[in-house]
Amino acid sequence: MAFSKLEIIEPILKAVAAEGYTIPTPIQQQAIPLVLQRKDLLGCAQTGTGKTAAFAIPILQILHEQKPLAVGIKVLILTPTRELAIQIDESFAAYGRYTGIRHTVIFGGVSQQNQTNALRRGVDVLVATPGRLLDLMSQGFIHLDKLQIFVLDEADRMLDMGFIHDVKKIIAKLPAKRQTLFFSATMPPEIQKLANVLLTHPAKVEVTPPSSTVDKIGQSLYHVGKMEKPELLLHLLENKEIKTALVFTRTKHGADKVVKILQRHNIRAAAIHGNKSQNARQGALTDFKNGTLRVLVATDIAARGIDIDELAHVINYDLPNVPETYVHRIGRTGRAGNIGTAISFCSAEERTELKDIQKLIDKTISVIHEHPFAANAHVAAPAPVARQQQSSKPRRNFNSQAGNGQRRNYGAQRSR
Ligand code: AMP
Repeated sequence: MAFSKLEIIEPILKAVAAEGYTIPTPIQQQAIPLVLQRKDLLGCAQTGTGKTAAFAIPILQILHEQKPLAVGIKVLILTPTRELAIQIDESFAAYGRYTGIRHTVIFGGVSQQNQTNALRRGVDVLVATPGRLLDLMSQGFIHLDKLQIFVLDEADRMLDMGFIHDVKKIIAKLPAKRQTLFFSATMPPEIQKLANVLLTHPAKVEVTPPSSTVDKIGQSLYHVGKMEKPELLLHLLENKEIKTALVFTRTKHGADKVVKILQRHNIRAAAIHGNKSQNARQGALTDFKNGTLRVLVATDIAARGIDIDELAHVINYDLPNVPETYVHRIGRTGRAGNIGTAISFCSAEERTELKDIQKLIDKTISVIHEHPFAANAHVAAPAPVARQQQSSKPRRNFNSQAGNGQRRNYGAQRSR
């Protein structure tokens, strides 16, 4: 099916073709006609399915058909992270480049000056994260009385990140008569309740539920001792075919530690997580996208909404404790028909997480047994004394001899 079959107007078709899209993704095929019919929508879809275009294209079309446009914000898109907000705004810029629709993005962590200047010049579509939106509303920079369409993006993540109260406050300020589009990858009870309140006779659209792991992604698993994860990562990165990799750690501290280790081994790496400034995160993302950085190390929250085309490798340095997160993570590769590889490290302490993930995806991830650190993989750290004595080899520590015979030094406090 071609985009033109969806009765999309010429200026948008031209922009979509310029993006290189030829066929609408399943969620776009389903959602675009429904939004154009001005229906409320409940979309179960995760990032990577093309959901941004699924709402941005029909919204741009609806506004274009109202031209000349009245003054005021007519569309609000609420999304949990700054990165996601920027990407959505960029999508409006791309798909709307021949429509003259004015859009802007607001998010916290940066000065509000440029944002309020843009708002003063006038916008039709506002993309926002909840905190900054409430802040600028309370300062009188934003009025939503002309709102026609409200998009709540990644509703489940709003809940995870503790934004649900802010979201409810914002919803209370929206005009009752409006079209609402609600997107969530999963539907926990609280999110279902919110959807019931927000939506009127919604049409439902569902694509790739989280349990059906994207099949075109090659998944493999390395059992490895917790202390030997750095060595295993360096070992894998010796493979020059891994041009770029997105590495997930569970904590911010863990992300910084991995970056230090990689940098010490002359691998260009940077971390993105909540403690980094917005500029540092954006800079790292840009460097990663243009290939200046080989490895981007991220925590789940920071990675939410990262949109990197043709990302070939995702490495789960730590397994997530929420099994759905595994699906979100590996969904960052293998997008839009590309083949992706997801590699996971599993230490003895992470067996429960692994079990939960495999139960969710209904699949056993194939284990790579042949690797230099396999011998100690089943030793928990810190290992109980009895187990350590039984172990055929002494457990390595960060200062042990590495598999290739070179001395590797991982201690952050030491230098070579
Ligand atoms: P999203 O789920 O909105 O984050 O989109 C995921 C990725 O798919 C983005 O990089 C989009 O640029 C890309 N994309 C969206 N729609 C299409 C399409 N119809 N054909 C090819 N790529 C697409």
